[in-house]
Amino acid sequence: MDSTGTAYRKHEGVVGEFDAIVIGSGMGGLSVASLLAQEGQRILLLEQHNVVGGMTQAYTRNGYRWTVGMHYIGEVGSTKGAGWKLFNRATGGQIEWSALPSVFNRMVIGEQTYEIPAGMEAYGDVLKEHFPSESAAIDTYLMLVGKVAKSSGPYFAQKAMPLVLADKVYDAYCTDFHQYSEQLTIDVLRQLTTNEELIAVLCANWGDYSLEPSKSSFAMHCMLAKHYVNGAHYPVGGGSAFAEAMVPIIENAGGRVLHSAEVEEIMTRDDAVTGVRLTSGEVISCPNVISNAGVQNTFGRLLSQHSATEQTMVSQLSHVRDSYAVVGINIGFKGSNDQVGLSPANIWAHPSADLEQNLVAHRQEFDAPFPWCFITFPSTKDPHWERDFPGKSTVEMYAYTDYRHFAKWADTTWMKRGDDYLIIKEQIKQRLLAELYRHIPNAEQYLDYVEVSTPLSYETFAKRQRGGFMGIEASPQRFAQKWLRAQTPIRGLYLTGQDIATDGVIGALVGGVIAASAYLKRDLMTEIRTAA
Ligand SMILES: Cc1cc2nc3c(=O)[nH]c(=O)nc-3n(C[C@H](O)[C@H](O)[C@H](O)COP(=O)(O)OP(=O)(O)OC[C@H]3O[C@@H](n4cnc5c(N)ncnc54)[C@H](O)[C@@H]3O)c2cc1C
Repeated sequence: MDSTGTAYRKHEGVVGEFDAIVIGSGMGGLSVASLLAQEGQRILLLEQHNVVGGMTQAYTRNGYRWTVGMHYIGEVGSTKGAGWKLFNRATGGQIEWSALPSVFNRMVIGEQTYEIPAGMEAYGDVLKEHFPSESAAIDTYLMLVGKVAKSSGPYFAQKAMPLVLADKVYDAYCTDFHQYSEQLTIDVLRQLTTNEELIAVLCANWGDYSLEPSKSSFAMHCMLAKHYVNGAHYPVGGGSAFAEAMVPIIENAGGRVLHSAEVEEIMTRDDAVTGVRLTSGEVISCPNVISNAGVQNTFGRLLSQHSATEQTMVSQLSHVRDSYAVVGINIGFKGSNDQVGLSPANIWAHPSADLEQNLVAHRQEFDAPFPWCFITFPSTKDPHWERDFPGKSTVEMYAYTDYRHFAKWADTTWMKRGDDYLIIKEQIKQRLLAELYRHIPNAEQYLDYVEVSTPLSYETFAKRQRGGFMGIEASPQRFAQKWLRAQTPIRGLYLTGQDIATDGVIGALVGGVIAASAYLKRDLMTEIRTAA
């Protein structure tokens, strides 16, 4: 498998002196490492998997390429926007963005399709065409999306501040945000309208933050809706473009990026970091460790928990939960995008407008329809695709599932999970292919290659617990946890990535900027946003 960085070799060990160690090479790890490298810090980045990039990694098999967890990104359409500037700074200006067409999402509720265009006004117009009697509710909804997303500024800013200051900002400036973050999405939407079909359309991509309307924080719903309201982009070259841009920045500053290097323990003495120990047994001393492995892993698995401080940190984990699990297939077609009939707009398909009942049914019975299915077409989004993979095309599909349906294989080993596991994988493949052909019947004749993933794939390849495909769940309770921030009570231990900001590639990047700010004791977020 191709990867940037270098494979860790036990017999060679890690040579060099480093200012900080970063655990994990997702967007949260790569971005903090790159930002610090740009400030002259020598960073050792350690990734347990054999590919650098975390969920943004791309991989090639049987002559096809897919990206695991990056299919569309919002807020990068204008060089004046904060999103574009953050990516630009972290990647040293190396990312080229390709715009998806105006209609970038198709929400399919039962048999009815709603085409979602870029632009607040255009979106409102489409909703009003379908739901003319809900015009006032739609206007209020769109107003709230903008207002709530805007109110999140101080909430994220305080996460990079020293504790005393952060507390003051939290109390004085985060009230507006919390007014909405404490409410459930469904409760707010039902105050606006009783039209369940409209609510289903507004929430059809709840998979983007992995929590249904009856459990998710309305603030998360609004931040996500705002993220995509002006449409979406795709990085030219696919997800691996991020690692390809940032790894050289880290290495050119005297750092190293090693994959196949799993951290087993974050070592501490008197509540201060002393370094890390790898599963190989090698100990690397360093006074600063920045973890991108997620809070569940960092506190629950990597800290030895031998001090009262560490035990308190572990106990805080009872206030957050992992995001949901998904099954998926990556498909390769012997035929170009045009031949197969693929176009860039994603599909979010639901069996019916009763999003809650769809979940209940599938949680009870694996055979019940998947509550949502996300279909995306990477080969149509990358302008270099035809040059690099002529005459071929790809599709990725993901569908919600309940981890309990897979728990019985939790202790089995990859590739040796048994015949019953192979049977369920085959079922997943057939069910998802049938869903795809419902939308694109022409595709069937070109089918060449299919690879199935289950919640266990996320445990094996990304060290996720209970198969969670995002970070911790975006509930009202999550946004009330003050300790989800870059600095920790352990001196020299910082957190980065989606768990300290929000799910999503840009959320993980914001986590990286917050972590770099906390480490440097400078407000990088404002510096980057206000730069010309
Ligand atoms: C199927 C799917 C589709 C998605 N689609 C989109 C999308 O279209 N748009 C979007 O914006 N977001 C999307 N996301 C979400 C997005 O990919 C994530 O929110 C984001 O990439 C998370 O970044 P991160 O850096 O926080 O974590 P990760 O990318 O998970 O990185 C964490 C890294 O830490 C490593 N690690 C863990 N433990 C250790 C250890 N002990 N030692 C060393 N390394 C360790 C892991 O291997 C991993 O590489 C999707 C996610 C998935 C799974």
